[in-house]
Amino acid sequence: MQLSETIKLYMTNKQKDFITQTMNEYIKTVNSLVFVALNVEPISKYTTADVAANLPSALINQCIRDAKSIIRKYDKKCRKISAQNKKLEKQGSAIRTKEPSVPLLKRPCCYINNQNFRIMNDHIEFPVIIDGRSKRISVRTSLTDRQKQILADARLGTMRIVCKGSKIVAQIVYEVSEPGYPDEGNIMGVDLGIKCPAVSYISDGSVKFYGNGRKNRYMRRHYSYLRKKLQKTNHIDAVIRINNKEQRIMKDIDHKISHDIIKTAVAHDVKIIKLERLSNIRSTTRTSRKNNHSLHNWPFFRLSQYIEYKARLAGIKVEYVDPSYTSQTCPVCGRIHHANDRNYTCKCGFHIHRDLLGAMNICNSTEYAGDRDIRHTA
Ligand SMILES: [Zn+2]
Repeated sequence: MQLSETIKLYMTNKQKDFITQTMNEYIKTVNSLVFVALNVEPISKYTTADVAANLPSALINQCIRDAKSIIRKYDKKCRKISAQNKKLEKQGSAIRTKEPSVPLLKRPCCYINNQNFRIMNDHIEFPVIIDGRSKRISVRTSLTDRQKQILADARLGTMRIVCKGSKIVAQIVYEVSEPGYPDEGNIMGVDLGIKCPAVSYISDGSVKFYGNGRKNRYMRRHYSYLRKKLQKTNHIDAVIRINNKEQRIMKDIDHKISHDIIKTAVAHDVKIIKLERLSNIRSTTRTSRKNNHSLHNWPFFRLSQYIEYKARLAGIKVEYVDPSYTSQTCPVCGRIHHANDRNYTCKCGFHIHRDLLGAMNICNSTEYAGDRDIRHTA
C-alpha cells in the first residue's frame, strides 16, 4: 500500500524563487503536453528530446508521465460520459451529460522520482532550474523521529513539491508492506455517526464508544460562526486560515478515533472490521435542522478511509455492508422500528442503547457490499 508523508521545507529566499520557477515551468510543460495530446498528436512515444522545456531532464520525464496519466483519466471520463449519453439517447431523453472540461494543472507543483532526490537527516537534495541550467539544491528540513524511521525503512516513491496554503512542502510517497490476513478471529462492527463519532461491537460481546460528538459539534459551530463573521468583513485570508485550522483539527480527531478502533480490534483478535457502505450514511441518519450543517459536512469518508488503511496495516480486513435498517432492526426478533430517544426498546423485550444497535447489526450483517481498493494518504 502507498502512503505519503509531508515534510516541511525551510528554504532560503533564493531557493524559494528557484523552486517556484521550476514548479511553474513544470505545470506549464504538463499542460502544453496535454494540449498537444488532445489537439495535435499522440504523446505516447515522446521522450525528453521531444519536449522543449526549461527543466532538468529528470523532471521533463516526469512531466511526460504526468501528462499521459492525465490524458488516460480524461479519456476514461469521456468514454464513460459518451456511454451515458448513448443510453440517454436510446431512452429517448433530451438530456445529455456535459463533456468533461480539458484538465489543466493550476496550482504550481512538481514531481520528482526517487532516482532524483535524496533525503538526509536535516536536508533534501533535488534538481531545479537555475539560470537555465539544471542544478541540485539542498533544502533544509526538520524531520520528526517518526519520519526519519519511516523514510529510512520504506521503499520511496515520487516526491511531490506542492503549495499548501501559502507554504511550499514536500510530500514523499512510500510503499508499506501489508501483513497477510488471518483465517480465524472475531468480527467487529463499527457504526459512524454524529452524536457518537464511532461505536464498535465485537462478536465476543465487547463494546466501545469513541470520540466526543458534542465537542466536535461545538467546534464546528464555533468555526462556522467565525467564518461567517470574517466573511462579512471580507477577511478572505483569515477565512482560509480558519478553514485550514479546522481541517487540521478534524483530521487529528479522525486519526485518533481510527487509531483507537484498530487498537481495540487488535486487542480482541479481530480479523474483519465491518463498516456501513458510505454513500448511504446520509440518508440513513435522521436529520434535524440544528445538526443539518454538521451532518452533511462530517467527513465520514475520511474517517472510514483512515480506519481502512490502518486496518490493512494491522492485517485486518475491512468490509462494507448494506446500511439499510441497521439502526432500526431488532437483532433478536428482526422487527423494524425507530428508536425515539437514546434507547431502543423492541416489543419482544430486547432493549439497548440506540447507537450500539447500529454497531451490533453491522457486526452481524451478512449483507456484503464489497470492499474497495483506493489509495490512501497518511
Ligand atoms: Zn425484538
